[in-house]
Amino acid sequence: MPTAAVDDPFQAPERRALRAVVTDFTTREITPHLPAWEREGQLPRDLHRRAAEAGILGIGFPEEVGGSGGDLVDVVVMTEALLEAGGSGGVISGLFSHGIALPHVVDEAERRRQRGDTAGADDLVERIVAPVLRGEAIASLAVTEPDGGSDVAHLRTRATRVDGGWVVSGAKVYITSGVRADVVVAAVRTGTPQEAAAGISLVLLDPRAEGYAAPRSLEKMGWWCSDTAELSFDGVPVPDSDVLGEGLGFASLARHFVSERISIAVTAYATAQRAFDLTVAWARQRETFGRPLVSRQVVRHTLVEMTRQIDVARVYTRDVARRHAAGEDVILPAVQAKKTAVEAGDYVVDRAVQLHGGMGYMRESEVERHYRDARVLGIGGGATEVMDDLAARLLGY
Ligand SMILES: Cc1cc2nc3c(=O)[nH]c(=O)nc-3n(C[C@H](O)[C@H](O)[C@H](O)COP(=O)(O)OP(=O)(O)OC[C@H]3O[C@@H](n4cnc5c(N)ncnc54)[C@H](O)[C@@H]3O)c2cc1C
Repeated sequence: MPTAAVDDPFQAPERRALRAVVTDFTTREITPHLPAWEREGQLPRDLHRRAAEAGILGIGFPEEVGGSGGDLVDVVVMTEALLEAGGSGGVISGLFSHGIALPHVVDEAERRRQRGDTAGADDLVERIVAPVLRGEAIASLAVTEPDGGSDVAHLRTRATRVDGGWVVSGAKVYITSGVRADVVVAAVRTGTPQEAAAGISLVLLDPRAEGYAAPRSLEKMGWWCSDTAELSFDGVPVPDSDVLGEGLGFASLARHFVSERISIAVTAYATAQRAFDLTVAWARQRETFGRPLVSRQVVRHTLVEMTRQIDVARVYTRDVARRHAAGEDVILPAVQAKKTAVEAGDYVVDRAVQLHGGMGYMRESEVERHYRDARVLGIGGGATEVMDDLAARLLGY
């Protein structure tokens, strides 16, 4: 009879080993430097190389394209471990921005391979995917535009046909790793505005190309160590070989939004877990009116509520991740997991700051950073209201 631990993919020996590797990497290579990176507003490129050497950067990408293998369950384990060991949502977003950019390139390489274009497939893998997964280059996904991010089907950045390819003009905003990016997977309109979603394609933009303006670095409420950019393009050339399937962009985005939303849910509950752990330690040691905080019933009940919300979010999200990795359609559960975990995260970081008192409001306290970092999770990857709209449609309301 298999034991419960063996049945639970999150407790499999190789996942436990992965957790230990990521925890060790985080405490050695991330937490000592995080305050400096937060001040600098970006992660060092060297961190990408070191994460690749540790086998962390390529988790969830097949070994054939230069990844470390594994599936979404491994990505969940890695994200939990990094955050619970004292990492941050900013590190997750900046170090793993390729996690939302590269899957579209890998899919296109596979499509080319299937139709016999081995050279075209190899070109994408060797020129784009492998260097990013070796930590030698940085990739961003650019969908959101100054006119709006929620309504992806009506984006305006325009690709115009020219001899041998396209030229792209338009603008993108709030692009993670966009200041440091060496390659940008951008959603552009190759069709007419009337074609809406069907007229959208993903293309590779080279930030060194003519017409690609210097990125504008944006200052944010949280995620300080993750650079965020506004990008503008004026006739940036894109060869045909760098179009990732004409008209296939929206479908590709929609497909990979599912794993992005699950990852955001994990970031939310794992951030909450870290904030909770810090708060329990604080409540045990901090005394008011002659007794430790934790001796007060109202404080203990708050800690119980924090645990309850984290556990519900974790169990539900892990189940959705497991089902996604097994090939099940989890569009609706992924949306529900994101909202559940974001609400848990918002509650927990708020209570964490409250129980820390004045210290919780100080820059020197870690929970202050988690409070700011968590706020974006209900906005990025699909705002909660837009997700509720999607859920209502999927449920037929
Ligand atoms: C730190 C950060 C990093 C990001 N990284 C990236 C990235 O790497 N790549 C990328 O492409 N984008 C990125 N984004 C953009 C993000 O995905 C968008 O901000 C998000 O999709 C919302 O789009 P918007 O900001 O244009 O808001 P809008 O679409 O203008 O919506 C504004 C608000 O209105 C509400 N709303 C919208 N539509 C509806 C509706 N139908 N019904 C009810 N309420 C509604 C929601 O509350 C929403 O938050 C990032 C954003 C941030 C803040």
